[in-house]
Amino acid sequence: MWYMTEERQLMLNVARDFVQNEVKPVALEIDKSCRFPLELFKRAGELGFLGVTISEEYGGLGGDQTTLALIMEEIAKSLPVLTVAIGAHSLLAGGLLEMLGTPEQKKKYLAPAATGEIMLACGSTEGAGGSNQAEFTTRAVLDGDEWVLNGNKVLISNIGVADVYIVLALTSDIDPATKSGMSCFIVEAGTPGFVIGQPEHKLGWHGSNTGSISFQNCRIPKESLLGPLGGCLQAMFVSATAEFLSCGPVSLGMAEGAYEMALEYSLERMQKGKSMFDRFQVTRHKLVQMWGEIESLRALVYSTYAMRDAGSMELARGRLLKCKGAEVSEYVAREAIQLIGGVGTVVDTGVERFWRDAKVMAIGGASVEALMDNIAMLIKNKTV
Ligand SMILES: Cc1cc2nc3c(=O)[nH]c(=O)nc-3n(C[C@H](O)[C@H](O)[C@H](O)COP(=O)(O)OP(=O)(O)OC[C@H]3O[C@@H](n4cnc5c(N)ncnc54)[C@H](O)[C@@H]3O)c2cc1C
Repeated sequence: MWYMTEERQLMLNVARDFVQNEVKPVALEIDKSCRFPLELFKRAGELGFLGVTISEEYGGLGGDQTTLALIMEEIAKSLPVLTVAIGAHSLLAGGLLEMLGTPEQKKKYLAPAATGEIMLACGSTEGAGGSNQAEFTTRAVLDGDEWVLNGNKVLISNIGVADVYIVLALTSDIDPATKSGMSCFIVEAGTPGFVIGQPEHKLGWHGSNTGSISFQNCRIPKESLLGPLGGCLQAMFVSATAEFLSCGPVSLGMAEGAYEMALEYSLERMQKGKSMFDRFQVTRHKLVQMWGEIESLRALVYSTYAMRDAGSMELARGRLLKCKGAEVSEYVAREAIQLIGGVGTVVDTGVERFWRDAKVMAIGGASVEALMDNIAMLIKNKTV
């Protein structure tokens, strides 16, 4: 592949061994039990996967975005949900810490996060709607040397397992002109008044703990403010982009995982002395179309990551990767089930979970419709 270098190949080899020996054997069990794969998350930290793009000064590898993409793609071929935990930790919450943190905050939280010593979560979404920040109600009020937080967040990843939560709260009403008013805070699990709910039982992404958190007169030190007072929405837009970008390689991995199972089955399943592949033209054509979509997505993913590594923010293409990724992975997984037939609908076969996970991909973190609107705004402003 044109984007492969010796260094990237070395990291990819480590990821492949990890997936083959440690992830694949438990992937189905995690989907069925909905257990958070804490031991795999910790191993990902030991192997450097949680801090690929974090600077060496703060315990990361100081690597490039493409290396991270290759690792995410590889993991997603077997256990997409592990990449969800990594995305919420390293990209969403970690991205905000890296962008907005003081050197002291980074030393305290980002450095142990880079190695998996602690886990991060990012709490933005409220009942008013994920992209409807104008109607968020969680507030932080300064009282002496402490901030007092009150409010609720919903559908937050890594709840119950995260040690530290990066939380968005209003410190004044949102100014429609400047979009100021929203601030970021660092809240440690176990802080009195910080209540963590139970994980929801979801359609897909089984094993990622998604649920509510609430703040009931929760007092945190004044120094827990992360970044400028009232000015975190722009940083959130940028940090979320890294997470949307990662949905490209993650979706690619999911599509590849489903496609490989369908191809193998079509070649091996015999009827009337012939494999399904040899027997039916429609089977062959479906597989070619699936392969074509995968290769188109691969081209989009790695060209976008190359631009990102060259220093461009890729706000629009980052969002496009999530939209296209969700579309391709859902399509390929759906067709893979169809090609495998009745057996494909059986959970133990391990293919239908890619379809469930792909459906969640179109919503979790941001709905593709909201992202399309973001992209439209960037196109209109000629910032693509
Ligand atoms: C598994 C999972 C994990 C998540 N993890 C996190 C997390 O770690 N942190 C966090 O803060 N949030 C997280 N979320 C929340 C996620 O960001 C929101 O679910 C998402 O932004 C959509 O918001 P909503 O669910 O409130 O839907 P709503 O805002 O109620 O939207 C419903 C539907 O309306 C349409 N719509 C909404 N807005 C627009 C728009 N602007 N333009 C066009 N159509 C629109 C879309 O079709 C959308 O699906 C997670 C969600 C899921 C499902």
